[in-house]
Amino acid sequence: MRRFVSAVFLLAIGLVAPLAAQTRVPVKLEPGREQPVDAEATAKIRQYTTAPEFNSPLTDYLPASATVPSPGAVLGDVAGAPGILPYTEEVHRYFRMLAAASPRVRVISIGTSEEGRERIAVAVSSEANLEKQAENDARLAQLADPRLLKLGGSDGSRFDDQRAESLITTSVPVYYITGTIHSPETGAPTALMELAYRLAVDESPYIQSIREHVITLITPVVEVDGRDRMVDVYRWHLAHPKATTPLLSYWGHYVAHDNNRDAMGLTLSLSRQVLDTYLGWHAQVLHDLHESVPFLYDNTVGDGPYNAWVDPILTNEWQLFGWTNVAEMGKLGMPGVYTHGDFDTWSPGYLMFLAAMHNGVSRLYETFGNRGADTETRELDPDDTSRTWYRQDPPYRTVSWSQRNNNNYEQTGLLVSLAFVAENRELLLRNFWEKSKRSVTKPEREGPAAYVLPAGDRRPGAQAELLRVLQLQHVEISRADKAFTVTVEGGGEPSESKPSDKTAKPKTTTRTFPAGSYVVRMDQPYSRAADALLDRQYWSPDDPQKHPYDDTGWCFPALFDTEAVRVTDRQVLAAPMSRVDAPILPRGGVTGSGPVFVIAQQGDDAMFRLRYALGDATVEAVAEPFRTAKSAYPRGTWLVRGIAQDALDQAAAKAGVTVEAIAAAPKAATRPVGKPRIALLHTWLDTQTEGWWRQRLDRLEIPYTYVSTQDVAADPDLATRYDVILFPPVGVGDPSRIVSGLPLWGEPMPWKTTPETPNLGTIDATDDQRPGLGFAGLDHLRRFAEQGGLLIAVDDTARLLIDTGMAPGVRVADTEGVRVVGSVLDARFPDPASPIVDGLGDRLSVYSAEGLSFELSNAAVGGWADEEGDRPTGRGGPKDTDGTQGRTAQAAPPAQGTVERWEARPLGIEELRRSSWGIIPEALRPRTLVRFGDAGDLLVSGLLEHGDQLARRAAVVEVPVGQGHLLLFAINPIWRGSTIGSHPLVWNAILSLGQRAPVSETGVSR
Ligand SMILES: [Zn+2]
Repeated sequence: MRRFVSAVFLLAIGLVAPLAAQTRVPVKLEPGREQPVDAEATAKIRQYTTAPEFNSPLTDYLPASATVPSPGAVLGDVAGAPGILPYTEEVHRYFRMLAAASPRVRVISIGTSEEGRERIAVAVSSEANLEKQAENDARLAQLADPRLLKLGGSDGSRFDDQRAESLITTSVPVYYITGTIHSPETGAPTALMELAYRLAVDESPYIQSIREHVITLITPVVEVDGRDRMVDVYRWHLAHPKATTPLLSYWGHYVAHDNNRDAMGLTLSLSRQVLDTYLGWHAQVLHDLHESVPFLYDNTVGDGPYNAWVDPILTNEWQLFGWTNVAEMGKLGMPGVYTHGDFDTWSPGYLMFLAAMHNGVSRLYETFGNRGADTETRELDPDDTSRTWYRQDPPYRTVSWSQRNNNNYEQTGLLVSLAFVAENRELLLRNFWEKSKRSVTKPEREGPAAYVLPAGDRRPGAQAELLRVLQLQHVEISRADKAFTVTVEGGGEPSESKPSDKTAKPKTTTRTFPAGSYVVRMDQPYSRAADALLDRQYWSPDDPQKHPYDDTGWCFPALFDTEAVRVTDRQVLAAPMSRVDAPILPRGGVTGSGPVFVIAQQGDDAMFRLRYALGDATVEAVAEPFRTAKSAYPRGTWLVRGIAQDALDQAAAKAGVTVEAIAAAPKAATRPVGKPRIALLHTWLDTQTEGWWRQRLDRLEIPYTYVSTQDVAADPDLATRYDVILFPPVGVGDPSRIVSGLPLWGEPMPWKTTPETPNLGTIDATDDQRPGLGFAGLDHLRRFAEQGGLLIAVDDTARLLIDTGMAPGVRVADTEGVRVVGSVLDARFPDPASPIVDGLGDRLSVYSAEGLSFELSNAAVGGWADEEGDRPTGRGGPKDTDGTQGRTAQAAPPAQGTVERWEARPLGIEELRRSSWGIIPEALRPRTLVRFGDAGDLLVSGLLEHGDQLARRAAVVEVPVGQGHLLLFAINPIWRGSTIGSHPLVWNAILSLGQRAPVSETGVSR
């Protein structure tokens, strides 16, 4: 019995708290000698573990209980048994059985998913702790918000540290564990079922200590929709062992892996519910379980750079937890446990980072999984198996691996961590208190004092959405009761989150903000969450970390195209203001009277929603700015007729859009604003990036048809069904794969609803995932555009259209050396009168994944501009003209006008003479609607190297094709719920280029 010979000391004895005084805290991390054992289950555990060292003395047996059911009651076998993956409902059923049988377990429903599946949290602790949970929570709530323990002094004594210390020594910390956010990472639910069972019934002294000193909170399945689909796919695989398993085309309802990048925007129910649960319980740790690295990579430590807004106390806690895990699991005899490694902890987009931004401890395990419950021989990457200073005992190169092995590692790691917290609860709570205090005292320490979002922002809808995101982050928002004046850095206008003033020397001036301006005070407990989202990011090109793990920039005010002024002047906190607790929505509705309704063009998502909500009303956009008796309106403002005032009032109030009713329309040129029929096009290779587009259309209640590349391949008459096809990025690297799909050898790979797979085929379905767009599909897209359709393609789908000759005169720019990794860049509008940029100012911050840009030509072949080179050797200086000795000087060739980088150059005499067949007719020439900013302004946030190569190049290009258009995006305008600012580029295109209605005489629309 290995577990009896391994006696391991966790840590030196900690302080004995009053609560702990009743029982001596055991320090040995080992099972109790008297612990009754379930012999049958124990034998199974050992049978399913592929080598003794892949288990620990803590988990190589199952405790027996006469009254409490073990996971076998639902699973029919032990956790991690081969061939068994429980559905969400089965996992939840087990936890409810456990709660019914044990007073040490409680199950709470925390909400439902996009598809209506329940999410739960399970609390496991001693009976006494759960009985007094409300009192304990009241203590933790005070440690979480030091303003509740205020003494009033402005010096060091302003908080009641003595009282805090008494709370620290009498409180039980909460450790929150979340499982299987990533659906192919399948082990966590069973590991957590067994962990909860152990914590509930095992009487080993170290488990008793965990029960007594920790409340363990568990959400066993975070991505509940994706879990059920994954189980379907796995069961299909068991039923068809020789066939190729279908790809897991959908995880959650909208996105796949990116569900772990939503902790900033909080657009997914899973992010919001985990955060609400975490903060609702005033937890100290959020520990998220993943399974894509052998054997246990505690990526809490990672390798930097660390997020610039987290408290150093936290980064030291990462080290403390991480290295303790490595040391203790090593002593327990488990190979391949390490903590330092690939992961930079820069972006706050990860689920676990919700804790980091809210004064807790964020943790993440990568254990090793087989994407299912088969036991398989695995060959590991040399990078994962090398012995190095931080991995003295690395994973094996070749290994037989089972789901049970995975469950052993996950459980052992968690037990070690929970025992560590039990022993060091006071340290953890003291740190929690300190971090909370330092969040509240931010204005007088590192600053800033507040961010101000001025009243009267040009984009009220975007401003409101940013404020609502902060509210979801549990950040307190205030509104100024009166105008106030404070010192600000820079010229005061515009915001420093916009780049125009960033090169200017920091100088201070005063600025008066009107009443109604929103203030995000930094003297609140969750100031860091706000600061990290509202500030700008800078990733040095010289940073030793050359492989950023994710986006390097995210500055929300920039990406929302709304102003947020960083104010360090603490006077801002004295301005008269009131807390705003209701969700912030701009006030909407109709004022005035008359048959013509005026809606100011403000580039808001709400206008797009409203257009479809207006039904058959007539909507026109005015081509010029104009005035009514009451207000001035910008170009692109809408005139609405043919709708009852009541109906419009209701729709406008819901959308948060203000409408003025007037007696007669202004005398100005207009163009119609239709309601084009939209299709959203996806592949069967990957639906993730498209999912962010789908999510936004759904949130705005825009009607659209969801079609796959296979549908397009089968439909030669797309133009009879749709006016606009949106083809968002696919993200598979080589765009030709979109055409080819998956190889067609072998059996079909179905994705559809059957009795065997009830959770597949609900978002879209196919008998066979393998066929791609095909050459027929490409041709159908070409015909669609030629017949008057608008095809919007982005990143790799735009590259596909370019590579296949559908966009003559456009190529991907060769920008040598440019390095962009998910950065926020400056963009400008070469034609400010284009309807595509209606509602936008004179610039925009845009999201660029990798620095893609386009180049234009007026010829179908050649005709590209050369970058101006050096002059040949000769007389004079670099700018002078050479001459030939002994002959009269010849007239200089006609001067070429300056050709901008985003433009096609005029064709030369020789090109016009020789290649008339290749010259693109004037009306069909591509033109740039959005370009990247100048080199000095280009970087708004994140990483940018050799930006001079990318500066001023084309970012969005319109290509007339037959009667219709292609619109090619080098940037991604709809990304992770965080690029609200650039949405109008898509909405405006749909509403202007996407309709076939006759064009007004102004010719604004082509
Ligand atoms: Zn993962």
